Amino acid sequence: MSINIPRGTKDILPGEVEKWQLIEQKAKEVSARFNYKEIRTPIFEHTDLFQRGVGDSTDIVQKEMYTFTDRGDRSLTLRPEGTAPVTRSYVENKLFGLPGQPVKLYYIQPMFRYERPQAGRYRQFVQFGIEAMGSADPAIDAEVISLAMTVYKELGLKKLRLVLNTLGDIESRKSHKEALIAHFEPRIEEFCTDCQNRLTKNPLRILDCKKDRDHELMKSAPSILEHLNEESKTYFEEVKSSLDAMNIEYVIDPTLVRGLDYYNHTAFEIMSEADGFGAITTLSGGGRYNGLVEDLGGPATPSIGFAMSLERLLLALEAEGVTLETEEDLECYVVALGDEAKQKSVSILSQLRQAGIKSDKDYLDKKMKAQFKAADRLKAKYVAILGEEELTKGIINVKNMESGEQTEVVIEELSTFIKQGK
Ligand code: ATP
Ligand code: MG
Repeated sequence: MSINIPRGTKDILPGEVEKWQLIEQKAKEVSARFNYKEIRTPIFEHTDLFQRGVGDSTDIVQKEMYTFTDRGDRSLTLRPEGTAPVTRSYVENKLFGLPGQPVKLYYIQPMFRYERPQAGRYRQFVQFGIEAMGSADPAIDAEVISLAMTVYKELGLKKLRLVLNTLGDIESRKSHKEALIAHFEPRIEEFCTDCQNRLTKNPLRILDCKKDRDHELMKSAPSILEHLNEESKTYFEEVKSSLDAMNIEYVIDPTLVRGLDYYNHTAFEIMSEADGFGAITTLSGGGRYNGLVEDLGGPATPSIGFAMSLERLLLALEAEGVTLETEEDLECYVVALGDEAKQKSVSILSQLRQAGIKSDKDYLDKKMKAQFKAADRLKAKYVAILGEEELTKGIINVKNMESGEQTEVVIEELSTFIKQGK
């Protein structure tokens, strides 16, 4: 009996993997352009990190973690998100002491969440994320948002909507929280049990509920915007004016709250407005988390970040009909006829590859016609033909597949000839 792949995961095969390489390349290149450096953290962490860093009342911690006990009786969890691990690493490696603040980091790493699989929702998925740590300048909030938008736009996405909100500072949140409790409490029995639990713990999360999103009390819920103190208002205004300065369009949605507990001030999501994208339209989400570094044992460090999954990015590209230009063609295919030529083709191929030329040959003892077919399928620019006659003359017959032109080339000069692109 054969064994299948686990639910919610997938293989990425040649033909598809080139797209992944291309978007990973774009994410890395844009990050470097914005002066962000890569960080890689372990695939698993102590379970406590996520309980504390993501928050006990979140869906991630309550329902979605892959937690296991190792042979040393430690509780470990496969990384469900990147911010808590990056923050742990920032504290543990004392990156707050580095001269170059803020510390600007990016990661491209697999994440694991036990979710109900559907289009755009997997149990293993890859997130590209950014964390800018150590600055409370609203301009860096705008920089982080613009980085995400740049990646999407340069890959060819057009139907994007940036949704922006602020969660305010601690004081504003406290006043908002009280208003939310007063609003929902009288009719809380009409909500799901999750929401009932959230009411006193973290009523803001009720606004993020997927089950009760259409309840009438959701629409009339008190807005954070009415509870912002002066400082939070000013902060939000400055984020918006930095976005304006970069000509980045956005819409304000006061009901946008992020799923994770550690956010304050700026919160944002980037959505796809493409037809046919399906039920899940969020491409990425992020926001400011000024308290997290301190919560995890470091000094007070205002920070902001976002995460996007590459799976949803690929879905959006597909929905918008964007085709990615992937380079798959072969430069040279060596056709060898006869035993001696076949032997010689081994060193010829080695010569080509050492010269940096993408090349291949037949390994199935195919007839000439079938070897040409293989070269065709691989979209070889040149086919180099070596038969007995060529061997005795010390030459190889090179056919330019585009022009049809054939040239006799001295074997030792084959790579030079191809590099000249004749
Ligand atoms: P959602 O509301 O869709 O569950 P979330 O709030 O759980 O999203 P975040 O934790 O903010 O999402 O993760 C950031 C991004 O990671 C999302 O915007 C999305 O692009 C992606 N993402 C989250 N969960 C999954 C998943 N199970 N499969 C694929 N991508 C995901
Ligand atoms: Mg989720």
